[in-house]
Amino acid sequence: MRLKKVEIQGFKSFADKTEIEIKNGITAIVGPNGSGKSNISDAIRWVLGEQSVKNLRGSKMEDIIFAGTSKRKALGYSEVTITFDNKDGEIPIDYTEVAVTRRMFRSGESEYYINKNSCRLKDVRELFMDTGVGKDGYSIIGQGRIEEILSNRPEDRRSIFEEAAGIVKYKSKKEEAERKLEKTEGNIIRIKDLVFELS
Ligand code: ATP
Repeated sequence: MRLKKVEIQGFKSFADKTEIEIKNGITAIVGPNGSGKSNISDAIRWVLGEQSVKNLRGSKMEDIIFAGTSKRKALGYSEVTITFDNKDGEIPIDYTEVAVTRRMFRSGESEYYINKNSCRLKDVRELFMDTGVGKDGYSIIGQGRIEEILSNRPEDRRSIFEEAAGIVKYKSKKEEAERKLEKTEGNIIRIKDLVFELS
């Protein structure tokens, strides 16, 4: 699996549609301070479902939409698509290329697409679970994050190893099953009460 393209439109400083092709090997993005380098990694994290405004260096989610300049009007929505080469099938979906899109309007609602098919954020999260690519995945290491990882509590550091070991998916499924079980137990108690009242 390899990230091969990032398309950005209306996200932070990227007013016009911008396509960044990532070839094999190492790609470096260079530019003066404040020119938008970090906005590219923000865009990748955002399309993968980042919901924390703080992690995107804003104060409200709307801040990720191009806010306009003295010469240009603000935009009404933001859209980012990232495309992965999936010839090795590491992303568990039957396509050799996987494109994930997120679109957000000023009203705050987000739309997600996998290969142009509308889907839920949950679907995007599950697709990348245990691949290291998710919004919290270890493949995106932001400024200062290495120090944070080293000084983290051992329990927090463990989650990085769990993702690398590929067990996050099972932990998440287990938690979901436990929640359902708890709900079902609650329903059984309620049914027993009703049966008791009726008998
Ligand atoms: P540095 O080298 O200092 O880390 P950088 O190249 O990583 O800088 P970024 O932090 O990615 O730069 O980009 C900051 C720029 O993005 C600022 O000029 C800021 O005005 C612009 N910007 C951020 N949000 C928006 C927005 N919603 N609309 C328009 N421009 C924005």
